[in-house]
Amino acid sequence: MKLGIIGGSGLYEIDGLNSIKEVEIETPFGKPSDKYLTGELNGQEIVFLPRHAKGHKILPSELNHKANIYGMKKFGVTHILSISAVGSLKEELAPRDVVIIDQYFDRTKQDNANTFFGEGIVAHIPFADPVCPEMKDLAFKSAMSAVIKHNKQGNNSTIHNGGTYINMAGPAFSTKAESKIYKSWGLDVIGMTNLPEAKLAREAEICYVTVAMVTDYDSWHPEHENVTLDMVIANLMANSELAKDIIKEFINMKSELQGECSCPTTLATSIVTAKEIVPDATKKKLDVIAGKYLK
Ligand SMILES: [Zn+2]
Repeated sequence: MKLGIIGGSGLYEIDGLNSIKEVEIETPFGKPSDKYLTGELNGQEIVFLPRHAKGHKILPSELNHKANIYGMKKFGVTHILSISAVGSLKEELAPRDVVIIDQYFDRTKQDNANTFFGEGIVAHIPFADPVCPEMKDLAFKSAMSAVIKHNKQGNNSTIHNGGTYINMAGPAFSTKAESKIYKSWGLDVIGMTNLPEAKLAREAEICYVTVAMVTDYDSWHPEHENVTLDMVIANLMANSELAKDIIKEFINMKSELQGECSCPTTLATSIVTAKEIVPDATKKKLDVIAGKYLK
């Protein structure tokens, strides 16, 4: 396994990383969010990317997800843990809780942009189960293990195994009307970034899962008005400390990954176009992502 970590709001670096190198890369799809940090954590090679760049400079709708995932693939990353701040659409998913996501709902308004394919090559990936089942199980176990220490220190976090993440476009948060509709649909949490990443990771044959860290109740909640920015930031900080321990636990337990999921062979049955008629320029552009199927 080579582990990629995409850090969301509140997570811009990883403590305890050894032999750190900052690597800037260009991709055929443009520039990633920031330099990648590569290094070793508890004996595991990792590649870290702060999704919104250090200093939080990039809007969700400005993110170049294709470049971000392409970069991970270029480093040889096989598994991506996405750590993401979310709003809750359910009373029982409280701030500082963690939801291991297993479904997404697309409200990006950019759904046709989230693919590496096109320009003479068509692929339809299976996406009914959009996260890696092995990573999902291990992320849940890691979070359960990590939370014990934090709850002893005064947190009161619960870990939820499974949930649907609605990906809104942003950058403004939901109106009450929108939030109440999403809630009535039975969705669990709301964020602005993870669905495109999950799709592109699947196309790149990288295992992917979202660890969603709840910072607040979205605007549906009657007590929403009482939530201050200070409270949200305190939750974000507490969540980022917990996230760092979840990552460490995930690495400690990595031998439990069986490597039997179908993520790494997704494209074997997904590319529709015969390789003989794919334009050379497209083949070149896709070499890192799908090169072995196009030779
Ligand atoms: Zn997988």
